[in-house]
Amino acid sequence: MRPLPDIEILVNGILNGDIALLSRAITLIESTHPVHQALAAKLLDRVLPYSGKAMRIGITGVPGVGKSTFIESFGMHLIGLGKKVAVLAIDPSSNISKGSILGDKTRMEQLSVAPNAFIRPSAAAGSLGGLTYKTREASLLCEAAGFDIIIIETVGVGQSETEVRNICDFFLLLMLAGAGDELQGIKRGIMEMADGLVITKADGANVQKAKSARSEYARALHFLPPHVSGWYPEVSICSSIDGSGIEAVYAMIEKFEQHQVSNGYFETRRKEQNLSAFRRLLREVLYQHLLSRNGLKEHISSLEQAVADGRQNPYSAVLDIQKTL
Ligand code: GDP
Repeated sequence: MRPLPDIEILVNGILNGDIALLSRAITLIESTHPVHQALAAKLLDRVLPYSGKAMRIGITGVPGVGKSTFIESFGMHLIGLGKKVAVLAIDPSSNISKGSILGDKTRMEQLSVAPNAFIRPSAAAGSLGGLTYKTREASLLCEAAGFDIIIIETVGVGQSETEVRNICDFFLLLMLAGAGDELQGIKRGIMEMADGLVITKADGANVQKAKSARSEYARALHFLPPHVSGWYPEVSICSSIDGSGIEAVYAMIEKFEQHQVSNGYFETRRKEQNLSAFRRLLREVLYQHLLSRNGLKEHISSLEQAVADGRQNPYSAVLDIQKTL
C-alpha cells in the first residue's frame, strides 16, 4: 500500500489550486478502505468552509445527444469568460465498462488541456450513499480548489439522473430534435426535473428541425407546473460545433441563478440536498450495522424466499424481523 497521504499537505494543496493534489484527494475520498475513509472525512471537514461558492451544473441526455461535445464547447466558452471549470463525469455502468465514459481520448480535446479546466471520471458504482455520493464530495473539493463551475455529466439511462439532480444547482437536459421522446428514452419525470432543456446539433440542415423541437418542448413544458421555486424551465437550441447558442445556455443558467438566489431557493435547495445526502448515508450505515448482527442476514434471506414464493406476505415478514430487533 502507498503511504497514507498527509492531510495538511492535501488541504493546503487544494486551497492553493494544486491540480495534482486535488486529484490525489479525490482518489482518497473514492477509496473504500476504512482508513482512507476516515482520512477523507477529516479532509472534507477541513475544506468544507472553502467550498459552496461554485455553480453546480448537472448535464444529462442519451448517449449520442452530444454531451461531451457540448461540454467541450460550453466549457471553453466559460473559460473564455475567466471561469475555472471542473467536469466530473459519472458513468453508471463504469463497473462493467471500466469507465468508458472518459475512455475515449477524443472527448473534450481542448478542454482537457485547458489550464483552467479539470476533467475527471467519478467513481460511482457500488459506493455507499448512492451513485453520486462520491461525486458530491469530489465537487466540494473542486470548489475549495477554486473552480467556479462544476459540471456533473451523466449518461441519461435511468436512475443516475435523479441522483445528479440531487447534487446540482441547475439540471440541464440535452435533447435531439425530431428523435421523439420515446426514442430518446426520456421519461416525463426527467423532463419535470430539468431546470432547462437544450436541443443539440442545431446546425446545417438541422437548424429548422431544432427550432420546431424548441417550440414543441416549450409547449410541453408549459403544461407542467413551475418548480417549487417558481422557476419555469426554459428551452434553447445550440450547436456545439459552430458554437451558436452556447452563450445563451449560460445566460439561461445565470438568469436561473439570479432567480433562485433572490427568492432564497438557491440555499433552500442546497440545504435539502445536504440533508438528503446525510439521511441517505445514515440509512445505509444503520442498515449495514443492523445486518452485521448475529443471524439477521440469514433470517432476512429465508424471509425473502418465503415472500418471493408467496408463502408469507411482505408486511408480516417485516414484523417477524421487527420482533427480533
Ligand atoms: P454523447 O454521447 O452525448 O457524449 O455525444 P457526443 O458528444 O459524443 O456526440 C455524438 C456525436 O454527435 C458525435 O459524432 C459528435 O460529433 C456529434 N455532435 C455533437 N454535437 C454536435 C453538434 O452540435 N452538431 C453536430 N452537427 N454534430 C454534433
